[in-house]
Amino acid sequence: MPHYVADTTLAQGACEIHDPTGAVVPPIHLATTFLRPPEGYSADGWSYSRYGYPGLEQPEATLKVLEGAADCRLFASGMSAMTAVLLALKPGDHCVFPIDMYHGLRTWLKQYSAHWGIGIDHVDMTDLDAVREKLVPGATRLVWAETPSNPHWHIYDLTALAEIAHAAGARLVVDNTVATPILTQPISFGADLVVHSATKYLNGHSDVLAGAALTAKADDFWEKVVFNRDYTGGLLGQFQAALLMRGMRTLHLRVERACRSAEALAAALQTHPRVKAVFYPGLKNHPGHGLAARQMRGGFGGMVSAIVEGGRQEAERVMQRTRIWKPATSLGGVESLVERREAVEGPNSHVDAALLRFSVGIEGTQDLIDDIFSALEAGR
Ligand code: PLP
Repeated sequence: MPHYVADTTLAQGACEIHDPTGAVVPPIHLATTFLRPPEGYSADGWSYSRYGYPGLEQPEATLKVLEGAADCRLFASGMSAMTAVLLALKPGDHCVFPIDMYHGLRTWLKQYSAHWGIGIDHVDMTDLDAVREKLVPGATRLVWAETPSNPHWHIYDLTALAEIAHAAGARLVVDNTVATPILTQPISFGADLVVHSATKYLNGHSDVLAGAALTAKADDFWEKVVFNRDYTGGLLGQFQAALLMRGMRTLHLRVERACRSAEALAAALQTHPRVKAVFYPGLKNHPGHGLAARQMRGGFGGMVSAIVEGGRQEAERVMQRTRIWKPATSLGGVESLVERREAVEGPNSHVDAALLRFSVGIEGTQDLIDDIFSALEAGR
């Protein structure tokens, strides 16, 4: 989709105004139940708010257009969207995940796979031969990619992964939280399903927990995902849907600004003598840079990680010394956040103890760089 179409879709919020008052944004309907026709069931109307309510269609339609999807469902969190996809599997099914990925899902997978008899393999997803080797003929149902991946921002090749998955009769699922559809539309590269933590960039203001699942085809598997949402009570609430819609309308502006500042921050950090390594796909020396330039358009994302000299204690001190960067987890908000990733991931983390993960917000670019630089230099 050309950028101007995405921009206009977002600014207008796919807004079809049905409200008799002529209000330019829809009202929030709090009803949990709706009047029914005498026969008791209306197939195309509202019935009970666990299945949907007026006010949900607008953000779902907007995201569907942005991702170029056949259908979209919003959930109470990113985890509820992702687990609704995984709960569509049967015992004996097998899935391939990256090693570098969102740690919360990795933790859930460990418990769930043991309990439900689902085979899970984690692999370095930048190595396509390694992915092929992990596929189990007749059993692998999903190949799951998150690109750029947490917290090293590896770039996974979606076209190649879709081919590999499809050749084995599996689906490619892409967690598009970090790239957002502004930078990458996974379905256009062959992905079958897209999932989001809408808590992040889509909302963008760190005040809504939300998730989304989208599909390239409204098939049997998708029906199971929708069923899982509706019958496990995973739907997004009415207030949250309204806040999410409000946040999404500026997604393109926020992502564009975060990308520009992240590029400048990554380049500046690379020159700092107290920084050992910088991970950002926009850097020419990032192993996935060429692929990112093809797969992401208009920018390389707002997430940067760096390993600082001096180990865990010095990384903690740098975080404590920043004034603009807030020491907190999460990403994709208008405010910039920094976290020592190993501390957030917990005891099973494979992340270097001195790795700081930066979520670049929309503050002044130079202010953000100066703040980190003075925090790095204060201890010398
Ligand atoms: N995917 C990614 C890449 C994330 O960063 C997160 C949360 O941090 C999730 C999924 C889970 O989303 P939520 O916290 O909305 O459940």
